[in-house]
Amino acid sequence: MDMGIIAVHGGLDTSREKQYLEILQEAALKGYELLLKSRVQALEAVLQVLEKSPKFNCGYGSVLNFDGIVEMDAAIMDGPSSRFAAVAAIQDVQHPISVARALMEKTSNVILAGAGAVKFARAQGFPVADCIAGRQREAWQKARASLARGEKPAQNLYTGLAAPYGDTVGCVLWDGTGLAAASSTGGCLLKTPGRVGDTPSLGGGIFASKTSAVVCTGIGEAFIETLTAKYVDQVIAAGNEPNQATRLALGRLYEQKKAEGGILAVDARGNVGSTFNAGRFPVVVVAGGRLIDNYQPVNLRAEQVH
Ligand code: ASP
Repeated sequence: MDMGIIAVHGGLDTSREKQYLEILQEAALKGYELLLKSRVQALEAVLQVLEKSPKFNCGYGSVLNFDGIVEMDAAIMDGPSSRFAAVAAIQDVQHPISVARALMEKTSNVILAGAGAVKFARAQGFPVADCIAGRQREAWQKARASLARGEKPAQNLYTGLAAPYGDTVGCVLWDGTGLAAASSTGGCLLKTPGRVGDTPSLGGGIFASKTSAVVCTGIGEAFIETLTAKYVDQVIAAGNEPNQATRLALGRLYEQKKAEGGILAVDARGNVGSTFNAGRFPVVVVAGGRLIDNYQPVNLRAEQVH
């Protein structure tokens, strides 16, 4: 296997400090080792590394909702078979992505939410796990105190903290024959309990087909209402490269919703493209088993007035 591609993003406003990039790189390289065996297994391995780390807004380290509870969304899709599965607003599991994978492989359901998702996870043997990291609890307390004083919280919506931190994660890959995508998140800080974002919304924040694999990050509602991930797939199917497709999609998202976001895509020839319009959007790419040096997504922020 020397022609596969794995690209992993660390979400909007994620720090580009070495310690964050190193975890993204570790995750991508780990996934690459499994790429020849199974696309789905490779995706799960990538996301498990990030869900385990307290540095990203997924799994342990997720942002807290308005009530101070972690509710997570995760999804996985295999392009050639068009098989998809997602869990939404799931609590108390270390690896939401693994629950989504089990749902895809062991049932005919495609989305499980809330208590039903937790029940399924337990039945599959996933133990109870506390996903609340100390830094996120403190940040939530401060954010709620700011609201109580009638002030706008200083914390970043995506990363949960005022200091540099990590956000939602996503991965797209091509194994030389097929494409696949996966994503995992705690959503947005102070979200309404029960709220589900674009991460598990097929065609909104994630999509994979024979043409492309796409993952998105940003204000979930905007991605869902514009079916942005599916739009990227259509633009690639019409003959455009992923860089152009993600650029067009983000322009369209901004035009329709004035929203911030980041999009990462790969096509069936192994071309990777990524575009964002926020502060930061770190992406790492492993091609042919090796990390691409200093890969940089296209930043449209300067062209768009927020
Ligand atoms: N898209 C995620 C959501 O709306 C948030 C994020 O990307 O940080 O749940």
